[in-house]
Amino acid sequence: MTFENEDGLKKLLKQTFGYSSFRPGQLEIIEAILGKQNVLAVMPTGAGKSLCYQLPAIYSNQKTVIVSPLVALIDDQAASLSQLGVQLSKIHSGLSRDENIKEWKRFASHESNILYLSPERLMQPKMIETLQRFSIGLFVVDEAHCISKWGADFRPDYEELAKLKILFPDTKFAAFTATADKATRKDIADKLTNENCLVFLAGFDRPNLSLRVAPKQNLKNSLLDFLSSRRKKSGIIYCLSRKETEQISSFLISNGFNAITYHAGKTAEYRRDAQNRFMTEDVVVMVATIAFGMGIDKPDIRYVIHANMPGSVESFYQEIGRAGRDGAAAETLMFFNLQDIISRQRMIFEGKGSEQHKLLEYKRLEALIGYCETSTCRRLALLSYFDETVSSCGNCDNCIQPPKVEDYSDVAKQLIAAIKETGQYFGGSHIIDVVRGSKTEKIKSRAHNSLQIFGVAIAQSKQVLQSIIRQLVAGNALRVNLEKFGALEITGRGTRILEGNEKFLAKTTIKTIPSTAKESSIASSWKFQTNPEVFAELKKVRLTLARERSVPAFVVFSDKTLLQMAKDMPTTQQQFLAINGVGRTKLEEFYNQFQEVITKFKDRKI
Ligand code: ADP
Ligand code: MG
Ligand code: ZN
Repeated sequence: MTFENEDGLKKLLKQTFGYSSFRPGQLEIIEAILGKQNVLAVMPTGAGKSLCYQLPAIYSNQKTVIVSPLVALIDDQAASLSQLGVQLSKIHSGLSRDENIKEWKRFASHESNILYLSPERLMQPKMIETLQRFSIGLFVVDEAHCISKWGADFRPDYEELAKLKILFPDTKFAAFTATADKATRKDIADKLTNENCLVFLAGFDRPNLSLRVAPKQNLKNSLLDFLSSRRKKSGIIYCLSRKETEQISSFLISNGFNAITYHAGKTAEYRRDAQNRFMTEDVVVMVATIAFGMGIDKPDIRYVIHANMPGSVESFYQEIGRAGRDGAAAETLMFFNLQDIISRQRMIFEGKGSEQHKLLEYKRLEALIGYCETSTCRRLALLSYFDETVSSCGNCDNCIQPPKVEDYSDVAKQLIAAIKETGQYFGGSHIIDVVRGSKTEKIKSRAHNSLQIFGVAIAQSKQVLQSIIRQLVAGNALRVNLEKFGALEITGRGTRILEGNEKFLAKTTIKTIPSTAKESSIASSWKFQTNPEVFAELKKVRLTLARERSVPAFVVFSDKTLLQMAKDMPTTQQQFLAINGVGRTKLEEFYNQFQEVITKFKDRKI
């Protein structure tokens, strides 16, 4: 059904949230929810999923229970809603017993109609019993992919939610997630609604994210290069191990960066504090394992760097999705090398799970390797994985600087021959030493310097050879044998290349780390911000207000809203209301402070 009152919804959107229009997909989902349909919505990070269930809850006044996997996520959403003047309750393990009781009473007495809960709290028998006495209109399951064993974030607590449909036969369900391939979608729909739900798929494309992949050579220096020209921006660096996060963040701190370490080995208190710093301080580099990130609602993350290749396209997409949620330009950069591929393959190889499951994991990894090694538009490669087609994007390294693809059959032959002559027993770095004629101990002790192939590629740089080996692996001409400690072996395709029956085309450009010069063309909306001094001043006021209220800075106003203020320079209340992100409640609370800044600058100009 279409809702009879679209205008009413739009009015509420402006008055409460301060936004003048719905984002793609939002209105349809809201109407479906208000029309008493079960809903599963898959929308990319930053698309605005929360509003899809918050607005119906406010509009209809029916009791809404929202399940969310993280305390921090619940707290952020609660802070944002309170700041908008919306009544709500939240119950989770981070609150004292008394606080939880107080929150519950407000919900039970209908003072608030929105209740945020962790899944384990919700599924406690006592909670279920009590909730059954109320008429609950809607269960919202946020980050719903956690219900599926196919996903990377599976949580047994979420699987329990499958019982809700029987316990509450009259209640509707709305599930939201950013990452769900077909199998996962089916799983969610089945567990929550017996597959009786409307599925909404919004586009996965996030054109404001630039995409880059660079070979990993000297990681620390590369990071320094990148960060030095982005000293005023906040971002995340993802590492594979706890140790690596510690090493990289202390390296960055010693180079004058405001870096924070985050991983699951830290205490809960430390992690809460780290997250708050990330949310509130102006410029922060978060150096973290993937323990950090789910539900982080900081809209102005300007870059996400992967120090290593992630495990699958899904996880990669979800992790980079945390950048640029405000819609302004943001950068992504992944460093990777052959060792990353081997480590990832090993993790699958040694992991638990059936052979079938492992096969699926290898496929997912292969898709990501494909993304890394493609010589055409990366966005095309990424989105085709989610069955979405785009034309070349103009915002990835390959579009900006198309790599030269050349016939590299000769070098490939030399490398494959060296692998063959050494008995398919060695890893990439030894093979490179052999063809470059290095006299290492290992080479001497195995007499590999007496092989015919020794030193045939002496003119080639290590980087080029590493790159060719990687491309041979990605192109299935070589395979890594994990049982033989990562030894390179020759496949059928490799043999055909060796025998001259097939050509081997490869990229030759050795990419350098994006420089500041390139940044200007990419982060355009950022570079060309109007009145940067005003923007800086507005941010300071925001920080003070956020600290006074102990909330993340973006709860006061998003960067995007502040940018628009700096550009439009509103001074009257009417002009302020015209800014996207300024609603009634925020206008009342913040008008004076922000107006003062703008007036000050306007007066100065005259
Ligand atoms: P996600 O889909 O990742 O859960 P959120 O719900 O956290 O995204 O929303 C991301 C940002 O977009 C938030 O700052 C939110 O206030 C903002 N937003 C949501 N809907 C709109 C809209 N219609 N217009 C402008 N901004 C919006
Ligand atoms: Mg969300
Ligand atoms: Zn592209």
